[in-house]
Amino acid sequence: MMKKLFVAAMTAIALAGCGGSTQNNAQNNSTAQNNAETSQQSDYKFLDAKEKAFDGFTLYWLKDNEGDNKFPFDLFGNVPEDVKKDVNMPDGMPSSISAYLIKTNGKTILFDAGLGPSRNGQLLNELSKINVTPEQIDYVYITHFHGDHIGGMLKADGEKVFTNAEVYVSRLEKESDLGKGEQAVKMFEKYGDKIHVFNFGDKLPEDVLAIDAVGHTPGHTAFQKGNLLIIGDLMHALALQLKYPEYCPNFDGDKEKAIASRKRILDFAKTNGLTICGMHLTVAK
Ligand SMILES: [Zn+2]
Repeated sequence: MMKKLFVAAMTAIALAGCGGSTQNNAQNNSTAQNNAETSQQSDYKFLDAKEKAFDGFTLYWLKDNEGDNKFPFDLFGNVPEDVKKDVNMPDGMPSSISAYLIKTNGKTILFDAGLGPSRNGQLLNELSKINVTPEQIDYVYITHFHGDHIGGMLKADGEKVFTNAEVYVSRLEKESDLGKGEQAVKMFEKYGDKIHVFNFGDKLPEDVLAIDAVGHTPGHTAFQKGNLLIIGDLMHALALQLKYPEYCPNFDGDKEKAIASRKRILDFAKTNGLTICGMHLTVAK
């Protein structure tokens, strides 16, 4: 009993660190306990292969980071010892920096562009492994404007990488401060009228739905095509955040909204049996 009370108190403190109001903390607290009891990885379908056939399209997982990537608990604020013990990954939680590619209907769609040349991004190597050249990309759909997602849009010399692509970005993201950032502005300059703006709920070419996943950034977007759900940066450490979605990494700009999106979209995926992939989930062998 004492232990349970201690966990509840620590969870409330952690939630306060995530920027929630007192009232929301109380609600989140009971939801968190509920999640702790019910959220099992087996309730969800996560992408488990580098290449997977879906109804009408094939998905490719492109690992952009070299070697391994692990996130420490410190990144997630004040995680109580009980939770750390439960997650049981003292050396850090496995993750990746990833992009995804879909081949469908004679078209090739890239989801995010990774770190780019200045940060040793591996995207172009990964594309060559599946015999895709940058010129063959028809569409690029961008989840948000952080550097590990749009860094790969331009070459080291500042020119376009995807010379034939139509590029789709969220209106909210473009209108936010991130849309005025140096990398985003350069991307807009170079891609010019190839840049298209979408709203949440829009269907992009090849039947890809743009879904509101705001919180991580002001226009953060998830994409759904058929039974596939690309969640962008909804989760950075699956090992922690699936069971404890109330923990936000420092990168989440609006933590309260990020928690709400995480819960809502994970629930949506579970209810509809969608296969989930994300830009920081651990890459399948
Ligand atoms: Zn990211």
